[in-house]
Amino acid sequence: MKYIVCEKPHEFLIKEKEMPVRKEGEVLLKIRKIGVCGTDIHAYGGTQPYFEYPRVLGHELAAEYIEGNVEGFKKGDKVTFIPYFHCGKCIACTNGLTNCCANIKVFGVHVDGGMAEYITIPEQYLLHGQGLDYDQLALVEPLAIAAHGVRRADVKAKDTVLVMGVGPIGIGLINFAKIAGAKVIAMDINQYRLNFCKEELGADEIINPMTEDVVERLKEITNGNMPTVVIDATGNRNVMNSAFNYMSHGGRFVLVGLQKGELAFSHPEFHKRESTLMSSRNATTDDFNYVMECLKSGKIDPSKYITHRAGFEDMIGEFDKWIDPKNNVIKAIIELN
Ligand SMILES: [Zn+2]
Ligand SMILES: [Zn+2]
Repeated sequence: MKYIVCEKPHEFLIKEKEMPVRKEGEVLLKIRKIGVCGTDIHAYGGTQPYFEYPRVLGHELAAEYIEGNVEGFKKGDKVTFIPYFHCGKCIACTNGLTNCCANIKVFGVHVDGGMAEYITIPEQYLLHGQGLDYDQLALVEPLAIAAHGVRRADVKAKDTVLVMGVGPIGIGLINFAKIAGAKVIAMDINQYRLNFCKEELGADEIINPMTEDVVERLKEITNGNMPTVVIDATGNRNVMNSAFNYMSHGGRFVLVGLQKGELAFSHPEFHKRESTLMSSRNATTDDFNYVMECLKSGKIDPSKYITHRAGFEDMIGEFDKWIDPKNNVIKAIIELN
């Protein structure tokens, strides 16, 4: 079978190897669609910290069930799976927080992933497609990251939510905050994406910090109260540091984006608001199930996310275009036959 490996930064190679052999407790899957994620882009670009090469990328996967012993699944069923392999023993796992397991191994990041014709995975991570198509199933994982962020922020209808950074995760954050009934403000330096958020996703307000004074605009939009929830999906340290001043009194600040440095903020400013700061990592089974429900009921429209496509072998030639910001890629999907 064929697989694509990221041999080193800026180099994908297509190779051949034996079909994987399913062990007890595993399932054999045929990969049908692969979503390309920021993580894959950073791995390819050599900017992902502690990343080891060579590595087979790919963790946003829609697959066909080929072989296994899982009740309720038969050959040909459309499936996806949770790519965060957890230990089941650490304090986080014991408390049901498998998304931040102390020994987590993310499929396609810490271990070889799904840019392959066939894979085997432990059966416990498998999710039945429940009538969703392969496009929808390839979006479940990135949407679950966003759903988890909104759940962490405990977004309610009375909230005003500022989403900073509107790449694929930020767009998901807007979608789920709107589903929760909140008023949503999208912020980004990319005007094309901001307009998209307003016109296609129902963002109530948009702010471009390149041309507008952020604090002034937030005051104007919130009658001086500022947003009750701020969620970062930029992964940019300066943006994160500034955002401590964007919160209302009693506000929550959730970090979905990740950067390598330290954060710095004024303690009195933070304290007087009785602010809450949280990170949001990966997602849990509940988030995956919630996302699948939202896709099934049509609350989330895949066509708003998927902007680019390529076949398995053509993907190598397309990748540099996909990561060029001028091509306005939101989500690129690799398709296998
Ligand atoms: Zn991803
Ligand atoms: Zn664990």
